[in-house]
Amino acid sequence: MGKPTGFMEFPRQAAPYRPAKERLLDFNEIYTNHDIQRLSTQSARCMDCGVPFCQSEEGCPIHNLIPEFNDLVFRDEWREALDRLQKTNNFPEFTGRVCPAPCEGSCVLGITDPAVTIKNIEMAIIDRGFEEGWVTPNTPASRTGKTIAVVGSGPAGLAAADQLNRVGHSVTVYERADRVGGLLMYGIPNMKLGKEDVVERRVSLLREAGITFITGTSVGDGSDDSVSVKDLQQQHDIVLLTTGATVPRDLPIEGRQFKGVHFAMDFLSANTKSLLDSDLQDGNHISAKGKDVIVIGGGDTGTDCIGTSLRHGCKSLVNFELFPKPPESRDANNPWPTWPKIFRVDYGHEEATEVQGEDPRVYSVSSLCFLGNDQGDLTGVRTVEVEMKDGKFENVPGTEKDWPADLVFLAMGFLGPEHTASDQLGLDYDERSNFKAEYGCYKTNVDNVFVAGDCRRGQSLVVRAINEGREAAREIDRHLMGVTELP
Ligand SMILES: Cc1cc2nc3c(=O)[nH]c(=O)nc-3n(C[C@H](O)[C@H](O)[C@H](O)COP(=O)(O)OP(=O)(O)OC[C@H]3O[C@@H](n4cnc5c(N)ncnc54)[C@H](O)[C@@H]3O)c2cc1C
Ligand code: SF4
Repeated sequence: MGKPTGFMEFPRQAAPYRPAKERLLDFNEIYTNHDIQRLSTQSARCMDCGVPFCQSEEGCPIHNLIPEFNDLVFRDEWREALDRLQKTNNFPEFTGRVCPAPCEGSCVLGITDPAVTIKNIEMAIIDRGFEEGWVTPNTPASRTGKTIAVVGSGPAGLAAADQLNRVGHSVTVYERADRVGGLLMYGIPNMKLGKEDVVERRVSLLREAGITFITGTSVGDGSDDSVSVKDLQQQHDIVLLTTGATVPRDLPIEGRQFKGVHFAMDFLSANTKSLLDSDLQDGNHISAKGKDVIVIGGGDTGTDCIGTSLRHGCKSLVNFELFPKPPESRDANNPWPTWPKIFRVDYGHEEATEVQGEDPRVYSVSSLCFLGNDQGDLTGVRTVEVEMKDGKFENVPGTEKDWPADLVFLAMGFLGPEHTASDQLGLDYDERSNFKAEYGCYKTNVDNVFVAGDCRRGQSLVVRAINEGREAAREIDRHLMGVTELP
């Protein structure tokens, strides 16, 4: 414990984002440079708890050694802090940027005071590691002769590939997109997670370590550039599916066919591809410039649609939420150390407030129908206010309202994984249509086929996908070799 009285002396001071007015003009990351003096002071707030809830299951799914790296940062021992961080986390540069930080929700200091700024400290450690050249490829000393096909290159697939390659298995990652990274590349926008400087920097290290990436290749969909599941099974000792939960939830109300209603992912992924390919000059994206935009649904996806629309220069922006506004502090039924379900202002909300003078979120509204003109273009959305009665939402009569809209983005979550490859493999599904395999085991009903990440558990978080990838790698190694040293 760096400074026994730190938590009493210093208030929490989180790292600021770049000013909203400035960052809205570009798609660069929203973060500011690390302030080492502030980080040292913030790390001194850690109490080195006897039972560090921050790294418990509730706090950190990958069990980062948080009090240890907090202490090392306080002592200015950054190299040691990096070694600790890399013991449990393959990609701290991703989680340090995008994780909602359940560790901070579970921090013991949070019972009485604002939590330690764990996420800022994590990001600073890994960024310093890259700057100093301390982060190097994990190349194995020898090869086992076993080969593994990983299908899908999101955080689950990448974490599994990294772990399996470290212990000497030969890993090939198949990805249908033209770039590696899954939702790290084509979901989360550049302003939250840099693509060329952050995601591709890590992918290059994985390549250098010996992992083979085959992009633009869909497994099992029968197209010209696809690979059949049978070929994969024949060519590899193990097939690991980490294909994500990519089927979006639709809103099949009247008028859904109007031009201008899109799934959020169609907007976000095309935007990133066009940005990377041509700095948005190729026209291969949905532009919100000069448009009245409505985002239906909250969460990270909704916020990312807000941030992207504002950067395009939309005319107006509204965000519909079905649920009521969350409380400012924890409700009695949401006690520490569970994740605090409280009102938060994310980067997109702050930016919308900067542009429009008010938060874009409208709570307790349900969409009744989309409105359109004779040409089939979307012109608006009709809503009604709702209230919860006996656990169900009920419409409040007389509260119908029409909102102008040229574009609507549906950000209402995901139903589960696509079943094309899994049907051909003959996989069992769970009751939510996810690929069926026990947590901690990851083995399916089909010999030598494992599954991990969002395709197994449903849409979740990057940190949970990393956790599943690491654990699936451990179980695959055990299955192949009889024993394993992987954590
Ligand atoms: C817009 C958005 C923003 C998000 N923001 C955050 C955030 O800020 N913080 C956070 O923690 N989480 C966030 N999430 C959730 C997080 O990104 C996911 O939980 C995580 O990426 C899941 O990882 P995964 O590896 O299981 O799957 P994915 O990242 O979905 O990757 C699956 C990959 O498999 C590929 N694939 C699928 N089928 C095939 C096939 N047949 N052949 C070849 N390849 C295939 C897909 O192309 C994809 O690249 C966000 C999600 C979205 C949609
Ligand atoms: S719970 Fe908070 S105060 Fe305690 S060890 Fe973890 S970060 Fe430090």
